[in-house]
Amino acid sequence: MYYSKGNYEAFARPRKPANIETKSAYLVGGGLASLAAAAFLIRDGHMAGDRITILEAATIGGGALDGAGNAETGWLIRGGREMEDHFECLWDLYRSIPSLEIEGASVLDEFYWLNKDDPNHSLQRATIERGLDAKTGMDFTLSSKARREIIELVLALPEHLYEKRINEVFGKDFFDSNFWLYWRTMFAFEEWHSALEMKLYVQRFIHHIDGLPDFSTLKFTKFNQYESLVLPLITWLRQQGARVQFNTQVMNVVFDIAPDHKVARRIEWIQDGQQGGVDVTEDDLVFVTNGSLVENSEWGDHHTPARFDPIVHDGGSWHLWRNIAAQDAAFGKPDKFCTRPEESQWASASITTLDPRIPAYIEKIAKRPTRTGKVVTGGIVSVRDSSWLLSWTVNRQPHFKQQPPEQTVVWCYALFTDRPGDYVTKPMRDCTGEEITKEWLFHLGVPLHEIDSLAAAGASRAPA
Ligand SMILES: Cc1cc2nc3c(=O)[nH]c(=O)nc-3n(C[C@H](O)[C@H](O)[C@H](O)COP(=O)(O)OP(=O)(O)OC[C@H]3O[C@@H](n4cnc5c(N)ncnc54)[C@H](O)[C@@H]3O)c2cc1C
Repeated sequence: MYYSKGNYEAFARPRKPANIETKSAYLVGGGLASLAAAAFLIRDGHMAGDRITILEAATIGGGALDGAGNAETGWLIRGGREMEDHFECLWDLYRSIPSLEIEGASVLDEFYWLNKDDPNHSLQRATIERGLDAKTGMDFTLSSKARREIIELVLALPEHLYEKRINEVFGKDFFDSNFWLYWRTMFAFEEWHSALEMKLYVQRFIHHIDGLPDFSTLKFTKFNQYESLVLPLITWLRQQGARVQFNTQVMNVVFDIAPDHKVARRIEWIQDGQQGGVDVTEDDLVFVTNGSLVENSEWGDHHTPARFDPIVHDGGSWHLWRNIAAQDAAFGKPDKFCTRPEESQWASASITTLDPRIPAYIEKIAKRPTRTGKVVTGGIVSVRDSSWLLSWTVNRQPHFKQQPPEQTVVWCYALFTDRPGDYVTKPMRDCTGEEITKEWLFHLGVPLHEIDSLAAAGASRAPA
């Protein structure tokens, strides 16, 4: 699909490329990027599905778009995707992928109808003082100085921002604004993150400015993204004959490099602990997921904190990218992105609430019932005065198809994971799931004498 001029090219079907019958494709990583590339190769590239192999280190596809667990030990999500109208490639992809929920519909139809009938918006975007409305409203509270700084950032040349941090391009007015609260909690930005990344995000999401304070700009899936997006896609790819080879960690792609070409010659992997690989030719297309947001993520549980491990391990996308980059400077600089874990780490937790008293506290803030299958919080609720700068959300429930009606799945995360909390005196990244649940219940406004017993009854996991 192209959107070069209006929609002139968007609906024209690509012609069959010459010699596509003789070509094969290997895609490293089974996240959305690879799955989408495989689907486009089949639909638009006319490649037969059985000529496509996806190599995935984990035992399940989807990468960051996860959703797992069960009613006994709790449900697990490392994030929840905020989606919007201008996901051009995603919507183009999913118009061709059959829904697993509605017969005869595509995943896009299903998503569109759901969001048409039940549009997303938040009725309370931020709280203070344990569950009270922070009354941030629709006002960005940006002074003229702060506005000017935003405009200067947008107009700046990218090369002038390569080594700059956000706190080098904005001043106090900006950081005190509602805009920054909304922005940073929505996109997980820290003051010390890249100013260039901030510029690119502002440009990418500029059309959301009106709907940013109440999230009316966002859309969400019916269930977690593994069940709503990944599963239909993998199911369709398999029906087309594509292979997904799990437990396969790709360690290197060996290139033949000459001044006028770079050609992949061999993919080296470890599959089920055994070294292996495949020789590839100029007829083979090799796609690599270089770098991953969830690489090296560690899981905790109700009684165990997730371990913060700053080492880039042997294997994984960063290791692979380093091996590829070592062969030619044109393959980029992975170390720019993966060598400062202290400055880029963060923690999130999925909380499965069991106690029937908890939904009432959620509903007081969300101003909606929790268990109707419809929008609940309508995006994250940020706790403005939380030492961790905690945000939490309750998506449409059930968030998992097998989730019993008495359970509510909550997702929360914090931007300052190394500072003590307000109820729990530990930093979030040292906390067990139970402790994170306590901190969340505290900011929900649960009476102090009830917090410990309500948290103890929850089944929660805390990935970081
Ligand atoms: C908490 C969180 C919140 C997010 N929120 C949003 C949001 O609101 N809106 C939005 O649009 N996006 C959001 N994102 C980003 C979005 O989820 C990702 O950009 C997207 O899912 C990345 O897909 P990917 O395929 O590029 O990589 P990944 O999903 O990271 O997948 C990479 C896959 O490759 C595998 N792999 C890596 N290296 C190797 C190797 N060497 N050999 C074999 N397999 C390998 C990994 O195991 C993994 O399965 C969020 C991400 C996170 C983590």
